[in-house]
Amino acid sequence: MWEHLSQEIRECTRCRLHATRTQAVVYRGGLAPRVVFIGEAPGADEDRTGLPFVGRSGRKLDAAIAAVGLAPAEHGVLNLLKCRPPGNRFDPDAARTCRPYLDRQLAFLRPRVLVPLGARALRALDPDAPPILVAAGTPRIGRSPPIFPLLHPAAALRSRRWSERWDRDVVALGQWLREPVAQPV
Ligand code: URA
Repeated sequence: MWEHLSQEIRECTRCRLHATRTQAVVYRGGLAPRVVFIGEAPGADEDRTGLPFVGRSGRKLDAAIAAVGLAPAEHGVLNLLKCRPPGNRFDPDAARTCRPYLDRQLAFLRPRVLVPLGARALRALDPDAPPILVAAGTPRIGRSPPIFPLLHPAAALRSRRWSERWDRDVVALGQWLREPVAQPV
């Protein structure tokens, strides 16, 4: 079932991004993850390797995942878009076409918590959420599964200010995962 879906994604030609990709980027992580981290779209490193978040942003993300104490089998990483958009320009049309793959992946994986990384992933999962700078670092428990937004790790790499915010939000995620406390959405 999972392998069938992954193969379908790898062979997908439903949108224009298939023409320029090296390969589709499906998923990395355990197949019964507690937490799934959701990014935007593969970049050059991901397009080359076929794995999500393997470049600089990925290293930042992996450090955060280790810091919150999630073992490899306990988490997964994927993107809204499965194929790299040319020039890394996010493609909303492609995201609409690609969306059923995300939904089918999540229906199979059934994580207990979703962590959208950045504004686009947050909006895709929770259209009513406040802007990412408001939402990041606080659980939104009125949904199933609950979501805990973070900034995109690329933002944390861009400035000291966002790096400090990222660090604070990651600490809050770790605390919440250890002891989920009900908070207003
Ligand atoms: N940025 C993303 O949003 N996803 C990746 O896989 C890599 C960088």
